[in-house]
Amino acid sequence: MFSLSFAGRVACAELPCQVPVFPNVLLFLNRLLAAAKLKQRQLTNSGGASFSLGMENFSERLADGRVDRRSALEFLKEPSPISLGERAYKTRCALHGNKAYYAVNAAITYSNVCEALCPICSFSRREGADGAYVLSAEDAYERAKKFSAAGAEEVHIIGGIYSKLPLEYYLDFVRAVKRADSRLNVVAFTVSECALMSRVSGKPLEQIFDLLLEVGVNALPGGGAEIFEESIRRQISPNKLTAQEWLEAMRAAHKRGLRTNATMLYGHIETPESVVEHLFRLRELQDETGGFKAFVPLPFRRGKSAVPSKGSGVYDLKIVALARVVLDNFAHVRIPITHFGDRLAQVLLNFGADDIGGTHWVEEVASSAGAERIDRTEAFMRGVIQDAGFEPVKGNSNYV
Ligand code: SF4
Repeated sequence: MFSLSFAGRVACAELPCQVPVFPNVLLFLNRLLAAAKLKQRQLTNSGGASFSLGMENFSERLADGRVDRRSALEFLKEPSPISLGERAYKTRCALHGNKAYYAVNAAITYSNVCEALCPICSFSRREGADGAYVLSAEDAYERAKKFSAAGAEEVHIIGGIYSKLPLEYYLDFVRAVKRADSRLNVVAFTVSECALMSRVSGKPLEQIFDLLLEVGVNALPGGGAEIFEESIRRQISPNKLTAQEWLEAMRAAHKRGLRTNATMLYGHIETPESVVEHLFRLRELQDETGGFKAFVPLPFRRGKSAVPSKGSGVYDLKIVALARVVLDNFAHVRIPITHFGDRLAQVLLNFGADDIGGTHWVEEVASSAGAERIDRTEAFMRGVIQDAGFEPVKGNSNYV
């Protein structure tokens, strides 16, 4: 029988992470969760009708208005995540009430060959190296068929930066997935990959987006953002798009009608200032285009990478809560269960997150960053949300 499994393997900074929740943190958080639940009941009782998924006038609904850079930095530097967490929780409830989202989805990584050679990466292979592969459109069709038969409603497609693949390869790949099941929501290709398609085909980026829409891409993932601060970016992923190029590509995608996510890779050599700057640059672009669906923080897991990792469960809480508070124009903060693990995901739902991501089924792929292999069913995802005290709502990356 076809086996679906989580291999913790995605490319382009969506690196796997199973962060342990330390027992002392859990004890401390249990008390916090009890207080948070009480607050949630009070919110529901005193104004359930004000809970709305709509983003209109959301900033106005925040009691204290917009957070500025200086306050954000102070929040992040505070030793305790509690006051920030409370504010993030309030924001999350104002937007989503008691709902928490998940998706039943699968990932197809079309190739692990990558020329970018990011020092943060434990995933990529050089062309011809052991374990290097490139899937065909026929492979895409077969995999999509199996995932669809198993209940997946969405497929994520990403890979490396490999300039020998022509534009038609990517288009055929998506066509094959849609041929397998036209109902599949396709979230495909980071803007780094889209920029590569533009380079190899000689077509402008806007035309690439139009072609992707034409073959059935429903949204772009938000990978490749890493951290925008250039001196850090140059150390962790020197050959990728610059921050400015990434933001401009996102602006162009939004203008062509493609909605996207936005990520931030943290837990490496970033500084508090660079985290704050990253969030504010996203907020500014979102003010302009409104094209981001969700912010997706990604904790760096070192694996075999030469870049040192840092972090703790408390740092995760602060990052997620700060994102929820600063990104007041983003509807969703997604904390992929594949990266945070189920227990920390439950805690993060109380610190501003509203979406635990998807089941993220993959076919057998070796796990070179050392992530755990865990099967995830829809029942498991619902159980994680319910056990955290929230109401599970199934959606997809477009929240439909
Ligand atoms: S080397 Fe960089 S661009 Fe290539 S797969 Fe790894 S993280 Fe993505």
